[in-house]
Amino acid sequence: LKAVLLSFLHEGEISRIQLSKHTGLSTTTITNLITELIEEGIVVEEGAQEEEGRRRVGRPRSALRLQPNARYAIGVHLGIGLHRVAITNLHAEVVNNRISTFDIKASPVTVFEGIIENIESLIQESGIDANQLLGVGIGASGLVDVENGINVLAPNLGWVDQPIRQIFSNRLPYPVVVDNNVRAMALGEAYFGSGRGINSLVFVYGRVGVGAGIIFNGQIFRGSHAGAGEIGHTTMVLEGGAPCRCGNNGCLETLVTEPILIERARNIASIHPNGLLASHLESSDGVKEIDSIFAAALHGDQEILSVIREQACYLGIALANLVNVLNPEAIILGGLFAQGGDIIIPIAAQAMRERAFARLGDSVKILPTSFGWRAGVIGAASLALFSFFYQEP
Ligand SMILES: [Zn+2]
Repeated sequence: LKAVLLSFLHEGEISRIQLSKHTGLSTTTITNLITELIEEGIVVEEGAQEEEGRRRVGRPRSALRLQPNARYAIGVHLGIGLHRVAITNLHAEVVNNRISTFDIKASPVTVFEGIIENIESLIQESGIDANQLLGVGIGASGLVDVENGINVLAPNLGWVDQPIRQIFSNRLPYPVVVDNNVRAMALGEAYFGSGRGINSLVFVYGRVGVGAGIIFNGQIFRGSHAGAGEIGHTTMVLEGGAPCRCGNNGCLETLVTEPILIERARNIASIHPNGLLASHLESSDGVKEIDSIFAAALHGDQEILSVIREQACYLGIALANLVNVLNPEAIILGGLFAQGGDIIIPIAAQAMRERAFARLGDSVKILPTSFGWRAGVIGAASLALFSFFYQEP
């Protein structure tokens, strides 16, 4: 019951009477639960100190709101060759974070050990009390068996059946939840980002792979075997397509990813060593290669621009297929697609609208992630916030 109240409080200020109306619970029950939440420091009552006739005008009587820093969650984004760990508050705002890279050939145990070390040092550094921590959410790459917390298959890392939840639970005194990292990002957007108030949304993330997270009515849609959203492996090229790490040929992932874009950019730069792109790549002191590539395109390097346009077109076709199957209100783009969003989003949106059935594409909003590189950790922390706080059973 408390979780029900919390999910309403998460939406913003609300009164006991409104809570009773929304939940159908009696005002007595609400009052008792709220009293407990206030004692626990999770909920504060606006204007409580201004009682006795000094309440501010225009404010609803005894508006309740969450105290965002009353509890914290840990979010772990497990990418390909990189992991990020963050502590967030109840509004999924990052209070502290750490990024580490890892060798993709390293054993999973070594990678998990590195993450656990980062979690422990972040907690220590931030001085947060252990009993304020709700739990750990982990967004893993590839297929995840959520019920058992197992990373069933991560093709880009070569991992099979990694019991992530068990490993982390053995080492940390907090509850642990594991899901696919793109689904986690979709959840984060739906509750804390540009997806707020949107009933049906798809989050599409591209980096080393391409995946989608689907949210309907505030819930992650996983499909029957947790494979919903694996759009990176839809076939785009029938014959002569490049081999994909999944074992097929001509998948979307063989056409549109960061490594492919970088490879093509390096080729162009080697053919035109005096070109705009080459000079951007050379002078990219401390700037990430991918950022230099987008910068060169924005400054007018036509060749790299046409490569990015072509990739955006393929992405748009994939989005049109998503629109035809799911007909969502919005599609939010993250990772590579948001980073190069100035160029990619208009082209992908146009391709999507041209190819979606009838005029289904016209009303679909295409937005960049609200969180930039934080999307992964905010998403992972959202997994923990929803499993252990807002929607606990
Ligand atoms: Zn594939």
